[in-house]
Amino acid sequence: MNHINPLQQAELVPVFQDQFGRNKRKLRISVTDRCNFKCVYCMPEHPEWMKKHDFLSFEQLYHFCEFMVRRGIEQIRITGGEPLMRQGIVHFIAALQQLKKIGLKRISMTTNGHYLKQYAAELKQAGLDDLNISLDSLDTEQFEQLTAKKLQPVLEGIQAAQKAGFPIKINTVLIKGMNDDQILPLVHWAQREKVELRFIEFMPLDGDQNWARSRIVSEQEILDQLATEFDVQIGQSQAANPARTYQIDGMSIGIISTITHSFCGNCDRLRLNAQGEFFNCLFAAQGLKLKDSIQQLQQGTPFAEPILQQQLHAYIWNKAAGFDAIQAQQKQLKPSHKIHSNFRKISMHMIGG
Ligand code: SAM
Ligand code: SF4
Repeated sequence: MNHINPLQQAELVPVFQDQFGRNKRKLRISVTDRCNFKCVYCMPEHPEWMKKHDFLSFEQLYHFCEFMVRRGIEQIRITGGEPLMRQGIVHFIAALQQLKKIGLKRISMTTNGHYLKQYAAELKQAGLDDLNISLDSLDTEQFEQLTAKKLQPVLEGIQAAQKAGFPIKINTVLIKGMNDDQILPLVHWAQREKVELRFIEFMPLDGDQNWARSRIVSEQEILDQLATEFDVQIGQSQAANPARTYQIDGMSIGIISTITHSFCGNCDRLRLNAQGEFFNCLFAAQGLKLKDSIQQLQQGTPFAEPILQQQLHAYIWNKAAGFDAIQAQQKQLKPSHKIHSNFRKISMHMIGG
């Protein structure tokens, strides 16, 4: 019998590509919309939670991931809500390791860090490759105003992740008048802790739709603040990385400036939320409901694969050029046809950042 090596088999299936020639290599999976934090830039005051029985099971998620890795996905990021609030997450990460035999290169997680003291060692053992941890302030009061939770467990979580040996990136969302005084303190802290730091511009994906352009701390404003203390040099080119990097005192700082300097031109990302809705862009006006197709894939129903392939191919192909194009399109629509004043009524906790 002629055996085909799984890697060769994977190459027989074309990589998902959009109309602008961007190959899709990264998949973000939001495993829950639940979160123990209430970050002002993300969670609504009164969240309407997804029903837990609507969540895709880990088995279904695994089958979907396998399907996607066979079609060129090389990196999977687990996010939420807070991914460490979903029971069974460590086993899921351990199971995903199997996909490294067919082309998956990295499994990452984005977390608020609160539960890392408890989970860091287990996650490392399960084969998680790296962590992005959110940290918006080093000031205890300000941190509580921003997240409605205590700072200390997060700092302890970061220490536990370092001890477990994870490469770590710290994500800081900046909001004008709230935590823009934290830019320099966080840089000094990151230098001491030897962790990579990335500042993120506030995006119009907050649950209560309080976003306004005037509340963004722009890339230029961040650079201006850095320049008051450091000699700031432009770092390596961006490729598909959303963060533009800068070098200060031999340390690398990232800035994700989706609003003022969008990085959509090279976007290689796709997203799936906890109840099986698939998004070709964080700002997509509409998702693609895949729960039934994924269920059929898991059950091995005849033609489940080609049907899913067809659905995804068409939807991914039609991915918009990027944030600026989607915004321009929204401006042309009559108010009654707009998904909502700030794009669509979906907040970051439902889709996963
Ligand atoms: N709970 C985890 C956490 O906070 O890291 C993972 C989910 S959270 C939605 C993922 C990332 O999205 C975080 O780094 C968070 O700071 C970022 N985020 C949430 N809302 C945002 C917004 N409106 N603008 C920019 N980034 C946002
Ligand atoms: Fe929770 Fe993360 Fe959203 Fe904060 S940013 S509310 S930690 S999901």
